[in-house]
Amino acid sequence: MKSDFPALKDWIYLDSAATAQKPKCVIDAISNFYQEEYATVHRAVYQMAAESTEKYSSVRRKVASWIHARQEEEIIFTKGTTDAINLIARSLGDLVVEEGDEILITAMEHHANIIPWQMLAKRKKARLVVAPLDERGDIDVSQFASLLSARTKIVSFTHISNVLGTINPVKELVKIARRYPLYIVVDGAQGIVHEKVDVQDFDVDFYAFSGHKIYGPTGVGILYGKKEILDMMPPVQGGGDMVDTVSFETASYQETPLKFEAGTPMIASVIGLGTAVDYIQNLSFDHEKELLQYAEAKLSSIEGLKILANPKQRAPLFTFTLEGLHPLDIANLLSFKKIAIRTGTFCAQPLLHSLGIQAACRVSFGIYNSREDVDALYKALMDIRALALV
Ligand code: PMP
Repeated sequence: MKSDFPALKDWIYLDSAATAQKPKCVIDAISNFYQEEYATVHRAVYQMAAESTEKYSSVRRKVASWIHARQEEEIIFTKGTTDAINLIARSLGDLVVEEGDEILITAMEHHANIIPWQMLAKRKKARLVVAPLDERGDIDVSQFASLLSARTKIVSFTHISNVLGTINPVKELVKIARRYPLYIVVDGAQGIVHEKVDVQDFDVDFYAFSGHKIYGPTGVGILYGKKEILDMMPPVQGGGDMVDTVSFETASYQETPLKFEAGTPMIASVIGLGTAVDYIQNLSFDHEKELLQYAEAKLSSIEGLKILANPKQRAPLFTFTLEGLHPLDIANLLSFKKIAIRTGTFCAQPLLHSLGIQAACRVSFGIYNSREDVDALYKALMDIRALALV
């Protein structure tokens, strides 16, 4: 598998939760499109544009079928997860949230699933409520349930934590939240990479994810939304392509999803995303599960190394600290050995602070990682630790 990824020639890449490397098929799809088929979509009638439009539109159908949406109109192309959540907060949020209402998130959210709601709460004088975690690093389900009320208008939680690796029980949380007439948003930035996603089975109202974490290009992502909800939501960006008729006084908009896609879209990135979906659809999750177990066991044996949290189910990513060493120093020393890990607060400052730490190291696996990578990391960490002890 590693051989599919040209950028990984001499690196051990353990930062896929930040962004995944690109297989050659995705790079080729984008490059071929620019070299041989490039043209705009939707507006032009010449054959190149018609073919480009067909290729671009086929990705919408492909994504819809992959995540089991009812229809392709439920798939909106966005810039990524952040863009998608901001779209919901601006459009649906401004429509349904009023003064005194509540938006419920959880303590393990990425900034992308905090700030748009915080901004909405400020705009509307609403309250952002945070469901706590239990000692294992799972959402405390009974507290989650007790924080819901008739005032809750939107519930938004992550499918998988990008820090702890916790896989949240989406169906269970949705079932509890559905006791109230509210909207349910799931941040799928990490979830779509490691779990089979069926949006109808989940019964979520929205599911957002980014192309670059599923071996696709940057600058493109997906917002899935139930058609009847998208239909009632106003667009948040105006411009070309999202309109039907226009005068200086007024305009009529396109139907869902085009009304949310103002301007010339990221055509090449969407086409690259289509190839990434083909690629990821053929992968099995067994390899990464096995690798996680191997890594957890091996790294835990290092004296002073502490893996944060112990969730019931963990995706192939985890965060650790190593006694006596600053995470930045660890990452820098690993970088000299061509091992890439992530350090810092992982865009989840409130979570790290609630765990009482300022920074940590994160290891996250992709399809290209192997036991040899874990062995190399283990050896490098042992060497670093020995240095620190001198
Ligand atoms: N949510 C989670 C859980 C994430 O891990 C990330 C990316 N680190 C995001 C949201 C934001 O994704 P993007 O930066 O691609 O918009």
